[in-house]
Amino acid sequence: MAAEGIAQRGTAVPGAATPVESPEAAEQTGPERPREPAGPPESAAQAPETPLTRAFAPFHAELLEFRRDIHMHPELSFQEHRTTERVARRLRAAGLEPRLLEGTGLVCDVGEGPARTALRADIDALPLEDRTGLPWASTVPEAAHACGHDVHLTALMGAGLVLDRLHRTRPGGLGGAVRLVFQPAEEVTPGGALSTIAQGALDGVERAFALHCDPNVDVGRVGSRIGPITAAGDTVVIRLSGHGGHTSRPHLTEDLVYALGRLATDLPATLSRLIDPRHAISLVWGHIEAGHAPNAIPGEGLLTGTLRCLDVDGWNQVAEVLPDLVDRIAGPYGVEVDLDHRRGVPPVVNTEDEVTLAEAAIRGELGPDTVQLTPQSMGGEDFAWYLTSRPGALIRLGTRTPGGTTYDLHQGDFTVDERALESGVRVFTSIALRALAADAAREQAGPADDAAATGSAGG
Ligand SMILES: [Zn+2]
Ligand SMILES: [Zn+2]
Repeated sequence: MAAEGIAQRGTAVPGAATPVESPEAAEQTGPERPREPAGPPESAAQAPETPLTRAFAPFHAELLEFRRDIHMHPELSFQEHRTTERVARRLRAAGLEPRLLEGTGLVCDVGEGPARTALRADIDALPLEDRTGLPWASTVPEAAHACGHDVHLTALMGAGLVLDRLHRTRPGGLGGAVRLVFQPAEEVTPGGALSTIAQGALDGVERAFALHCDPNVDVGRVGSRIGPITAAGDTVVIRLSGHGGHTSRPHLTEDLVYALGRLATDLPATLSRLIDPRHAISLVWGHIEAGHAPNAIPGEGLLTGTLRCLDVDGWNQVAEVLPDLVDRIAGPYGVEVDLDHRRGVPPVVNTEDEVTLAEAAIRGELGPDTVQLTPQSMGGEDFAWYLTSRPGALIRLGTRTPGGTTYDLHQGDFTVDERALESGVRVFTSIALRALAADAAREQAGPADDAAATGSAGG
């Protein structure tokens, strides 16, 4: 509903030939335009009012400015010191008590009592050049928020401020607490998720939610799916060694190139016969090397490739069978084989109850037609580690101006329609409120009615 409203308003802007552009997109066509003061985009101010739009309004201009400042000062993985400090300072100014993580990142509980729901944002930038041409483009060479983490962290901080305001002004407060997790280093392997969790980010937490910008979805809408929403991606490195010898006498040594060839073809083929094809295991070599002379059997060889998979079961099965399979394929040829299976991230697997909860919250907040089914991405996302021990959901936040350019993540020109900031805050906040309501309903219903209370949570 909200998205259609935005599109209609766009066509009504005087002098605008195309649907309304985001402030960022508008700036792109006018390179000499002076920097405009941060303020709510006009159309967002006209959005249908909900209790959360009213709660958000006092923070809107500040959050817009905050996000632009973060965009101008991107910091790479595990170096997010300024970003962490800015978020912590703002939360402290609201009277909250953020806990800094080792190095970078922080967690902060809002409300009172134990926090059973965690909302997570990643905070790092990418090592590439900002080519947006915007007044608030990156000021740091070879660093840019080209994955939208500046939007995630600002939306999460905004949700924290809104939730805190509700807690202080509502009779009875929030009736519980919510944990904000500002996680460093999503863009590298191993990323910041594991160290963040190791430092207690999920202690006491029963479910976790995250947002990720999606430039294929219009602003004011979200993409969602139950089950895997990203993929697993590992690196496989196999080193072979032998004594080498003359190609006329392969029987007197280990024929390393032949063994390497068998591994290159038999390993992917055998995996596809050992593991259910519905897991979609894909082992593809990117680099193979061995030898120099046509008549000399080399003593060393190398295979490197990537292994991708659509679900956790398949990902775990591969890890189990791979070492033995490599030995069995290479075994008859007598070469020494060293397998280095570098685990990346598992897929993010959204759980049904939490997707249902999030979608209900979003429909209630942004409008009944604002949730669309999203395809599973072959990319990786380390929020997956949170969901290996807790149920939860990653929701895709629309950032495209309706009718506008479809940008791509991890590209220097990646640009968001800044109205995504408001929808991000409202999505995070409405999910938190609905989760709190589900907890309250469950407590009232008693332990026997756990499942029923979660499924029927109102908000
Ligand atoms: Zn990314
Ligand atoms: Zn990202």
